[in-house]
Amino acid sequence: MSFESLGLAPALLRALAEQGYAEPTPIQAAAIPVVLEGVDLLAAAQTGTGKTAAFSLPLLQHLMQGPPAGTRRPRALVLTPTRELAAQVHDNLRDYGKHLRISSATIFGGVSMGPQVQTLRRGVDIVIATPGRLIDHMQQRSLDLSGVEVLVLDEADRMLDMGFLPALKRILAALPRQRQTLLFSATFAPPIKALAMQFMHEPREVSVTPPNTVATTVTHHVHPVDAAVKRDLLLHVLSQDSRRQTLVFSRTKHGADKLVRYLEAAGMRAAAIHGNKSQNARTRALSDFKSGRITVLVATDIAARGIDIDQLPIVINFDLPMVAEDYVHRIGRTGRAGADGMAVSLVSHEESGLLRDIRKLLKQDIAISNVPGFEPSQPLRLDAGAPRPVQGQRQPRQGRPQGSHRPHNQGHGHTGGDRPAEGNRKRQRRRRPAASKA
Ligand code: AMP
Repeated sequence: MSFESLGLAPALLRALAEQGYAEPTPIQAAAIPVVLEGVDLLAAAQTGTGKTAAFSLPLLQHLMQGPPAGTRRPRALVLTPTRELAAQVHDNLRDYGKHLRISSATIFGGVSMGPQVQTLRRGVDIVIATPGRLIDHMQQRSLDLSGVEVLVLDEADRMLDMGFLPALKRILAALPRQRQTLLFSATFAPPIKALAMQFMHEPREVSVTPPNTVATTVTHHVHPVDAAVKRDLLLHVLSQDSRRQTLVFSRTKHGADKLVRYLEAAGMRAAAIHGNKSQNARTRALSDFKSGRITVLVATDIAARGIDIDQLPIVINFDLPMVAEDYVHRIGRTGRAGADGMAVSLVSHEESGLLRDIRKLLKQDIAISNVPGFEPSQPLRLDAGAPRPVQGQRQPRQGRPQGSHRPHNQGHGHTGGDRPAEGNRKRQRRRRPAASKA
């Protein structure tokens, strides 16, 4: 299968050749012809499958036809859950559209409105936005959505998880009924189906990854370890090859910051990326990581959504996620596009129950091996009574005396994107307490 045979325009084929893409990924092969037909599409694809190009290429091809956007009247809207993902979609659209005269702009919170208003006033063909900030612009009338011909909902499952449903409904109500809607989601869970039923017109479905599976090119390793020496083990694992770019996941923002301080004190070049960091700090951390200025990026689950780093050889779970599905999202950062990847999890006895959930979800065995010198005092338990961390309570780490932690108030898990409605935030906190510290 070639990109030519999908019916893409020569200007796009040239850009793809320059990107070094030899052939379409399965989601691209399945989705591009459908989108070019102009019908609605419901696509199940995880990050790392090439999903961005699957909607960007036919979107650009559509926009090549017809007049350019008028002032404040974009012709296409891409909604994403996080700022990082918005920025990445924007980068990809620019790469693929480099030989076309199609303009695009990102609209997300955490930066001032003024420049965004000016850009919209000049007129852009494609707006890539997070829902909260888009609503701010709608209220200020700095943009008019009545000319939108194509709507893309990227990582729609994550947008719902983050409480953006009310915002999405408001945005959808402002769009023309006559439009093409493309919805991409890691799974077709019932809330996604409900969204599709309500807002899409007889969508065609494509699905390239069965729900909740990870790339077969990823090998999973678990190292049991006492919580008190976990970070020493992390340092040990990292120092096996200190030049290797490594993404490390931490369950909490505070934990991510502490880990970075520890790694820096040990001479490693590290940075944290999470919702309490300013947009500038996040962008800098990501670009430093991509350029190799830092070798370790410590991320929380929500902030890591949408991080697009090619072929990361290894992902380390310093903590296991409270929700097993998040393991799949984390691991989506490695083993991409056929490359080999490794997922290493440092698991304390208290996290046994979380490991059990993950094994159940993956339906595959994970190699469990002790690292010499770091053997745990209590083995992991994978039976029905396996313990799990008490939510909201930090694990005793690094031998710190109990009670010596500073009180923390870290806001809530939505901060990787922008504001969901308060009511939803509360609901989310009840449903997924773990996310409250992501
Ligand atoms: P995505 O799932 O959209 O986040 O894409 C994952 C990565 O795969 C990105 O770094 C893309 O640049 C890359 N990619 C997308 N399509 C292709 C392709 N057909 N061949 C090679 N790499 C690709």
